[in-house]
Amino acid sequence: MPASERAPRHAPMDQFAVQDGELLVGGIPLTRLAARVGQTPFYAYDRQLLTRRVETLRAALPVTLKIHYAMKANPMPALVGHLAGLVDGIDVASGGELKIALDSGVDPRDISFAGPGKSEADLCRAVAAGILINVESFREVAELARIHARTGDVARVAARVNPGFDLKGSGVRMGGGAKPFGVDAEQVPGLLAEIGRAGLDFEGFHFFAGAQNLKAEAIAEAQRRSYDLARTLAASIPAPVRALNLGGGFGIPYFPGELPLDLAPIAANLDELSRRAARDFPGAELVIELGRYLVGEAGLYVARIVDRKVSRGQVFLVTDGGLHHHLSASGNFGQVIRKNYPVVIGNRMASPERETATVTGPLCTPLDLLAERMDLARAEIGDLVVVHQSGAYGLTASPQAFLAHPACVEVLV
Ligand SMILES: *Cc1c(COP(=O)(O)O)cnc(C)c1O
Repeated sequence: MPASERAPRHAPMDQFAVQDGELLVGGIPLTRLAARVGQTPFYAYDRQLLTRRVETLRAALPVTLKIHYAMKANPMPALVGHLAGLVDGIDVASGGELKIALDSGVDPRDISFAGPGKSEADLCRAVAAGILINVESFREVAELARIHARTGDVARVAARVNPGFDLKGSGVRMGGGAKPFGVDAEQVPGLLAEIGRAGLDFEGFHFFAGAQNLKAEAIAEAQRRSYDLARTLAASIPAPVRALNLGGGFGIPYFPGELPLDLAPIAANLDELSRRAARDFPGAELVIELGRYLVGEAGLYVARIVDRKVSRGQVFLVTDGGLHHHLSASGNFGQVIRKNYPVVIGNRMASPERETATVTGPLCTPLDLLAERMDLARAEIGDLVVVHQSGAYGLTASPQAFLAHPACVEVLV
C-alpha cells in the first residue's frame, strides 16, 4: 500500500456537491459564484447547509432543549439573520455583537451576553436591551447594581461558573483551574448573595468548559458535571433557576484523522438531564450554545492562484488569499503543531492529475500557508483554491490589515 493511502485522511467534505468537476455552493458552480462575487478571495456560506445542520441537530437532541448560536464563531449579519430564524437564541460576547443580534430581529429575551471584561457601557446597553447577562465577576454585579440605582432598570443575570473541572480533550480550554472566564465555583455562593443584595433578576447558571471537542463522551461528562454542580450551587440561589446553560464545545473535523462528532451519546445524556431538570428545576430551560458546530462546515474560503512555481523540487501555488483572511487555516490561531485544513482545487474536483503542492498567500512571511505539501489536483494560475470547514473563526478571527492587501468579501448563498 502506498504511504499516501495509509496516512490519516481528512473526513469527507461531501456536504458540498460536485458538478462537472466544480464544487457547488448554494447550487451555484464555484467559478460562476466567483464571477458573481466579482473578486477573490471571498468566503461563501451555504444557507441550505446552515438550515440542514440545525434541523439535524434538533432531530437528534431532546425537543425541549434550547439551542443557541454563539455568534463569536461568525458574526456576518446576513448569516446571523438566517440563523436567528432557526435557533432559540443568540449568545453574544461584545457590545458590537449585541447590535448585530438585535438587528437580526431575535427576541432580546433570547439573547445572552458572556465574556470577561464587559465594559460599563456594554452593560448599560445590555440592561437597556433586556437581554440576559452572564455575570463573570463581582465587579460586574456591582456595576449592574449601580445601573439599577441610576436607571431603575433591573438586570437579568445568570452566574457564569468556572467549574473545578475542564472539558477533556478540548481544542480550546475555557474552564477548570485558574481562568479569566466566569467565577470559580467556590466563590459562586458569595456572588449569588451579592446578586440577591443588589436586587438583580437572577435567572440561572452558565457553564462553558471548552470548545472544539470531538469526543462525545467527554462532552456528555462535562455537561453532567456542570448539571451536578448547578444542583449543589442551587443551595445558595436568590431566586428559582429559570435557565441552565450547559455550554457546548461540539467540535468539527478539521485535520487528517479527525472524525465528525457522534451526537448519540450527547443526545442520550441531555435526554437524561432534561428529565432530571424537570424534577430539580421545575420550569427551567436547558440550553446549549454552539458556534462552530452550527456554521463551520457550511463555509468555504476561496482564493485564486496567482503564481505557480517550483523551488528545489517543491511545487508552490501562490494565491491572492492567506493568513490575513484565514488565520485559522494558516495554523496560527491556536494550533501547536501546524496541520492542513481540508483544501481542494474547487474547479478541478474530477481531475485525475494529482501532485503534492504547498499553497501560500501573498504575504511576505513563512507563516502565510493555506496548505503544506498536500495532495491536490494539479493546478494552474487562475484556478480556485478552496479551504473547507471555514464557516467559523475565518474572517472574523483574522488580521485583515496585516500587509494592507485588498479586503476580503463574505457572501451568503
Ligand atoms: C467561544 C464560545 C462559544 C462558541 O464556541 P464554539 O467552539 O464556536 O462552539 C460558546 N460560548 C462561549 C461562552 C464562548 O466563549
